[in-house]
Amino acid sequence: MSVKLVANDHGHAHTRANNENLRRGIPLRTSRIIAAGSAAIVLAASSIAAASEKERLEERLRAVEPRVIEWRRDIHRNPELSNREFRTAKLVTEHLKRLGLEVQSGIAHTGVVAFLRGGKPGPTIALRADMDALPVTEEVDVPFRSRATAEYRGETVGVMHACGHDAHTAILMGVAEVLAGMRDSLAGNVLFIFQPAEEGPPAGEEGGAELMLKEGLFEKYRPEAVFGLHVWSLLRAGEIGYRSGPTMAASDFFTIRVRGRQSHGSRPWQGIDPIVTAAQIVNALQTIVSRQVDITRNPAVVTVGAIKGGIRHNIIPDELEMIGTIRTFEPEQRAAIIQGMERIVRSTAEANGASATFHVDPSGNPVVVNDPDLTRRMLPTLQRVAGAENVKELALITGAEDFAFYAREVPGLFFFVGVTPRDQDPETAAPNHSPRFFIDESAIGLGLRAMTELALDYLAAAGG
Ligand SMILES: [Zn+2]
Ligand SMILES: [Zn+2]
Repeated sequence: MSVKLVANDHGHAHTRANNENLRRGIPLRTSRIIAAGSAAIVLAASSIAAASEKERLEERLRAVEPRVIEWRRDIHRNPELSNREFRTAKLVTEHLKRLGLEVQSGIAHTGVVAFLRGGKPGPTIALRADMDALPVTEEVDVPFRSRATAEYRGETVGVMHACGHDAHTAILMGVAEVLAGMRDSLAGNVLFIFQPAEEGPPAGEEGGAELMLKEGLFEKYRPEAVFGLHVWSLLRAGEIGYRSGPTMAASDFFTIRVRGRQSHGSRPWQGIDPIVTAAQIVNALQTIVSRQVDITRNPAVVTVGAIKGGIRHNIIPDELEMIGTIRTFEPEQRAAIIQGMERIVRSTAEANGASATFHVDPSGNPVVVNDPDLTRRMLPTLQRVAGAENVKELALITGAEDFAFYAREVPGLFFFVGVTPRDQDPETAAPNHSPRFFIDESAIGLGLRAMTELALDYLAAAGG
């Protein structure tokens, strides 16, 4: 029996009491007191109704949590690389169909989306999870350890959910189940997004959030806000991290090719040395962040991650290649850094009599910007779910996330769920992408609650 019925019973009792008073001729004043008393009872009953609504939500969350952990383990044991999330997508699709949602699969290669239509009118919000794993060989000793391998850049590599996207997928499957069970009382709709290739598509392919949007996802469903979470080694299980405004960096990948002229290692004056030129370029690139970026406004990073050139101790090669990444938090600074790098590469090569090309891959991610207004509005939800003392405001994160593309279209909130065991120092815990990345599964319930209650609170507030 629902407590709402109790409230109605009291309401009826109130009416009956008034009628009785009138019949008996009890003075109006007493009747007023009785009426006021009844109103208090009705009020109390409605707060009991709210309490029991909470209890029912709590029951649903408790019921689904062990299954979320099972799904997570299953996905963890069967990880798939970007744009190859076939098994994962099938698991997700079947689950969402069982819930009776409108499901669309095969978006942006292996993406799956589901639309939950609430019983009452209201806005649409989007909740997003990512499904891909990484070319990492797992070293964590758990019963559901991954032993999967796959082809990656012409090599056979181990595959592992080293970024925790297995948890993201399982959590959102759980959120979908909880919300689908409450659809009649939802004032609005929820779009569940399970996207592939967050870590970046294989060479020569498109993928991830950018492709999902390119294929018309937000034009079709028009969400008013988008939410996403990431499991995070730098926080303990039980903690949630957030930040308002710019949160995660824009990431760009660059390639520099330095061309000289091959000669014998003993007679360098007969050639042009691309190795010495490259060394000067690497050094000169360091002056961008240290001398040219206003670091009081935003931090920035320029990293050369690989240098490939040469074959033998006594041969100066014709050319070499360097690749690296740029991390920024503001479009103007990003443009200025790219321009500065281009200038340094070109003129340093020229100063050495060499030539060089500088190419920035267009597939980079923009900055993840958490909408300040949305963040302010939803922060109380995170604080209620985790306990205010467990919700931490984070420093800027130089890592990148393609959630940025969604949050560029509509107000977004991307938050972080701690997964490092409580007795361990997060600073020394194996980070995301490590073969030893470990999720304390007690954190999964918090992620499930946080995402569910963000959706419920947002829709409840919008529905008035
Ligand atoms: Zn990652
Ligand atoms: Zn990730």
